[in-house]
Amino acid sequence: MKLLEGRIAIVTGAASARGLGKATAQLFAEHGARVAILDLDGAAAAVAAADLGTGHIGLACDVTDRAACDGALQSVQDDLGPVDILVNNAGITQPLKIMDIAPENYEAVLDVNLRGTLYMSQAVIPQMRARGRGSIVNISSVSAQRGGGIFGGPHYSAAKAGILGLTKAMARELAPAGVRCNAVCPGFIATDITAGKLTEEMKAAILDGIPMGRAGEASDVAGCCLFLASDLSAYVTGSEVDVNGGSLIH
Ligand code: NAP
Repeated sequence: MKLLEGRIAIVTGAASARGLGKATAQLFAEHGARVAILDLDGAAAAVAAADLGTGHIGLACDVTDRAACDGALQSVQDDLGPVDILVNNAGITQPLKIMDIAPENYEAVLDVNLRGTLYMSQAVIPQMRARGRGSIVNISSVSAQRGGGIFGGPHYSAAKAGILGLTKAMARELAPAGVRCNAVCPGFIATDITAGKLTEEMKAAILDGIPMGRAGEASDVAGCCLFLASDLSAYVTGSEVDVNGGSLIH
């Protein structure tokens, strides 16, 4: 059964070949959605969109730039039609200790993760509201819930915890308009976000803390995003869904 037939979806930060956004875009496309991949590098976004098959688009968009988010939304509407689904996936992380966080580290990590989630949501909300439907999925992290301890520093935990608060407040405000908003909290997933800075020792220590005994796959997160984007989750809003192999059991 195709769960997103006829739907239009935006996935931010989805040009990264092994990333969560690309896997999510791929699964959405397999389920009948037409997908717009937004990323910093427009050419890479276009290549990623072509990988999904025909009828998808890739656009340059820095999610920390409100005008760029509005411009990208306009292009998606013009090319594909009104947007039903937004996955706020773009994110960066840095493995810093509390006293090593410089202003530029704070700004970079808070801006892409939290400001970007706000700005891209603000871009799509008016037309979702006008149509009385929509699903927004925000990618947070287990680091928000357990105070890091995986790779990202305290500023990353704070940004991802901010996303949880934003998600719940948006869910409350947008529910009467028929727009749902949920967060996904991935645990340790093997992607390129750690940019070669994850040592074998760090990896072994992380795996030790995962009851399922393995790192997550990007497809594990994509499946959860599909559930939240589709009508299977029609009565789910304001939730945070864990995809962490048991590494945090509440
Ligand atoms: P990834 O492979 O590094 O992909 C992230 C993508 O976001 C990259 O293509 C990156 O582009 C793009 N990006 C960075 N800044 C951007 C901006 N300002 N505007 C638009 N796009 C931007 O990372 P990932 O592991 O798939 O992570 C995806 C999301 O999951 C992130 O929000 C991350 O925090 C979250 N997450 C990941 C894990 C994990 O274990 N992997 C766990 C929990 C949560 P560049 O490559 O050009 O910078």
